[in-house]
Amino acid sequence: MTPDEFRRRGHELIERIAAYREGLAARPVLSPVTPGGLRARLPAVAPTTPEPFEAIWRDLDELIVPGLTHWQHPRFCGYFPANAELSSVLGDLASSGLGVIGLSWQSSPALTELEEVVTDWLRQMLGLAPGWSGVLQDTASTCSLVALLCARERAGGFPAEGPGGQGGTAPLVVYHSEQAHSSVVKAALLAGFGRDHLRAIPVDADHALRPEALAAAMARDRAAGRIPCAVVATTGTTATTALDPLAGIAALCAREGAWLHVDAAMAGAAMILPECRWMWRGADAADSIVVNAHKWLGAVFDCSVYFVRDPALLVRVMSTSPSYLRSAVDGEVRNLRDWGIPLGRRFRALKLWFLLREQGIEGLQRRLRRDLALAQELVTAVTAARDAGWRLLAPVPLQTVCVRHAPPGLEGKDLDAHTLAWVERVNASGVAYLTPALLGGRWMARVSLGGLNTGPEDVRAVWAAMRAAAEGAGPVALR
Ligand SMILES: *Cc1c(COP(=O)(O)O)cnc(C)c1O
Repeated sequence: MTPDEFRRRGHELIERIAAYREGLAARPVLSPVTPGGLRARLPAVAPTTPEPFEAIWRDLDELIVPGLTHWQHPRFCGYFPANAELSSVLGDLASSGLGVIGLSWQSSPALTELEEVVTDWLRQMLGLAPGWSGVLQDTASTCSLVALLCARERAGGFPAEGPGGQGGTAPLVVYHSEQAHSSVVKAALLAGFGRDHLRAIPVDADHALRPEALAAAMARDRAAGRIPCAVVATTGTTATTALDPLAGIAALCAREGAWLHVDAAMAGAAMILPECRWMWRGADAADSIVVNAHKWLGAVFDCSVYFVRDPALLVRVMSTSPSYLRSAVDGEVRNLRDWGIPLGRRFRALKLWFLLREQGIEGLQRRLRRDLALAQELVTAVTAARDAGWRLLAPVPLQTVCVRHAPPGLEGKDLDAHTLAWVERVNASGVAYLTPALLGGRWMARVSLGGLNTGPEDVRAVWAAMRAAAEGAGPVALR
């Protein structure tokens, strides 16, 4: 493709994306495609000769878009908000178009230095102390793996530089709450701690980690000759946005010499609001923090920010220095390959830079405050529908509202079946998309608000669809 053809097709693509965004609200949120439905309509082999671009556009419209679940839809209330602000989409396109790879500082100096600058902007926006250094990774899963690898190396006296996991030392233990994200367990397993050395700590009535239970678990491990190595605390758990009490957990980590990693993947975005910072009081005492800029904040996936206290330790664990990557300026610059797992790195900083500049701190704050208020409106509606069987299941400090419809006499497995059935009816209606989750062994519905274009009328439509689906007050229809 020549630059001139790119110009023409690029304009067409931008037009398509803009029209897609403008028309989103009229689409069913969940894709109606059945398993294998798209695969069956695509050729099994690549084209031998060039195809006209019109054929690509046609298939994008007729095959691909109908096979999407529309994450940017104003009534997408599943999982978490994964806002792809259009300014950040342009930043991502700029990154793709410039086509550079960060292997070392020299391989694209601006890639490294812009990343240093925007992650430090974000640090300040989140109210974190100057002692933190930030680096972009693909996902929170990677950040948590990096954190636990560093924790393991620090606690074990850098075993990777010698016998690795085969030195026969005392077992290292990792602690997290029962509500921690699955990526935390996966990271601990991949980092070689072993399932026997993972402790899922019980939570309190608000679903937050209980520090006294953590202290007891640490004491039991010490007494048995094991070493408390790391705690992963969550600010904003996946199920209910519960807030683990970081200050108390940090004090225990300091006493035990354990690494504290804070998983604020979703809720971290809210820390740009000074009035929310109580939620992670104590975060400055951690060793590492992850905040996904690609969730509520608005940077298009993937853009996960990993903050570290001790970059020298991170570099010691992650660095490799083959001859072809060395340069004369290595002493003066960051080589970000040594700040994470992959060697090659995308120019992710651009999409965050575009987003922060185009929205400004105030623009982002305004949107998040709107979302907090919308969540409280739904809380008020659910609370007022108590007589109709509706129950709020957890505090709502942020944008996720956890509910159950529990009519009198419906319990246990029957209640679960009812919950899954009405959520399924809402999703099948196309009006909204909710993802159910288990809480305390029972199914519930999570209404995760915070979409870029979710307004009060959308929240009312979602709530009406929920009531119709659960209370059987007639069919749920796509408006
Ligand atoms: C989304 C989320 C994760 C996983 O994020 P990825 O970037 O997809 O790996 C982990 N923890 C929490 C609390 C999350 O909200």
